[in-house]
Amino acid sequence: MKLSFKGGIHPPQSKNTANCAVEKMPPPKKVFIPLSQHIGGACVPLVKKGDIVDKGQIIGNVEGGLGCPVHASVSGVVESIEVKTSASGVKIGQIVIENDFEERLSVDVKPIEKSFESLTLDDVIEITKNAGIVGLGGATFPAHAKLASGAGKIDHLIINCAECEPYITVNHRLLLEQPERVLRGLKILLKVFGLTKGYIAIEDNKKDAIKKLKEKTTGTDFVDVCIMKTKYPQGDERQIIYALTGKELTSGHLPFEVGCLILNAETVAAIYDAVVYGMPLIERFVTVDGDCVKEPKNLSVRIGTPINELIEYCGGLTKDPYKIICGGPMMGVAQWKMYAPTVKGTSAVLVFSNQNRTRQSDAPSCIHCGRCVGHCPMRLMPNYLVAFANAGELDKCKEFDILGCVECGCCSYDCPADVPIVQTIRAAKGKILEQMRAQKAALNKSAVAAKPEKEDKGGKES
Ligand code: SF4
Ligand code: SF4
Repeated sequence: MKLSFKGGIHPPQSKNTANCAVEKMPPPKKVFIPLSQHIGGACVPLVKKGDIVDKGQIIGNVEGGLGCPVHASVSGVVESIEVKTSASGVKIGQIVIENDFEERLSVDVKPIEKSFESLTLDDVIEITKNAGIVGLGGATFPAHAKLASGAGKIDHLIINCAECEPYITVNHRLLLEQPERVLRGLKILLKVFGLTKGYIAIEDNKKDAIKKLKEKTTGTDFVDVCIMKTKYPQGDERQIIYALTGKELTSGHLPFEVGCLILNAETVAAIYDAVVYGMPLIERFVTVDGDCVKEPKNLSVRIGTPINELIEYCGGLTKDPYKIICGGPMMGVAQWKMYAPTVKGTSAVLVFSNQNRTRQSDAPSCIHCGRCVGHCPMRLMPNYLVAFANAGELDKCKEFDILGCVECGCCSYDCPADVPIVQTIRAAKGKILEQMRAQKAALNKSAVAAKPEKEDKGGKES
């Protein structure tokens, strides 16, 4: 029986580039490296205008808290450090580097000096952090923090190769063309976590990749290739955990709490590159597709390359674009211009014309059909959440677990009334999180205000 989960949807897969081998795109004349490409605090620049930088050099780093550094993806000269709107729509500092095309590698990019046998989890966490590796499936959570969360707590190390979003085929191509990077990365992680077996979770629509993985692992027992039903959002961590282990991860809980650690296939390959070659994350695979793109392709792209250059490399546009999306059509971020840089989380650049627009209603109104409830993989009631959000009842939204929404979009996909469900939920979540941040800041402020009083008292007593 194929593994799966409850709820979800079956959108057209549109894996048009499944047979397109990854092409290495030549590095651009300029790269634009945003100082925040991960969940957590933004980096502060470690270089200034006019500095000469080498490929792989750390050029920005976080000062503390969650986050990881950013690196120069080409060698060259820092042209400027400017604030620009990022692919996710927020204004953020970015370092512009003019490429000198010398491909001069940073002295910090060097293979690890330790043997495989003496490698520890702490070593891999440190290397992963310094290499700036984040979840490359699009979540962009710093990978070192994820590894650290699993220390001593996991029995299931799972590589996520579901790639359930329509159009995107980068994991599929990675497994077909460079399976060793993933399998060797898995071996390193198994070793440092003290596990003997890992799991590769893959949807049944990638038959050639499944065959390749089985060929590569014949006669070994360090990996189980787990074939899952093709269904969206099978790639969500909670759905994979349920499909493979039967355990349910409820809202607010993390995979390590049920003994699981899940990493995207490209993330594992990046960890392998960092551990074995010392190579930081400066390049990634990107699917370029959509009915406007002349020659859809899979590309290997330097971080910081503007997305319009990816499109030009694919022959340009054949029609007027209606929507440009960085990421998949379900969870990606619509762009308002074509100059946003490729970042660590950019798994795809999709360009669609108006012909692909299916939703036309300007005055959506819920008809209480309940489809959204049936499709929600998190067992939420999206119709109620929308009603509460529209009425400004944020407490009710919280009570109905709006923060458990993973923003997969299944509810919106099949709504016959065109209700902008996920958009409304996302906006309400934003307001709730803002409220929570403000409450936390107020609490911290009052704690700081109370501190001198205590210190004074302590001083007098002594
Ligand atoms: S699918 Fe749309 S119309 Fe049906 S209950 Fe949900 S919001 Fe209402
Ligand atoms: S409510 Fe959230 S988790 Fe549920 S289907 Fe909609 S977007 Fe997905």
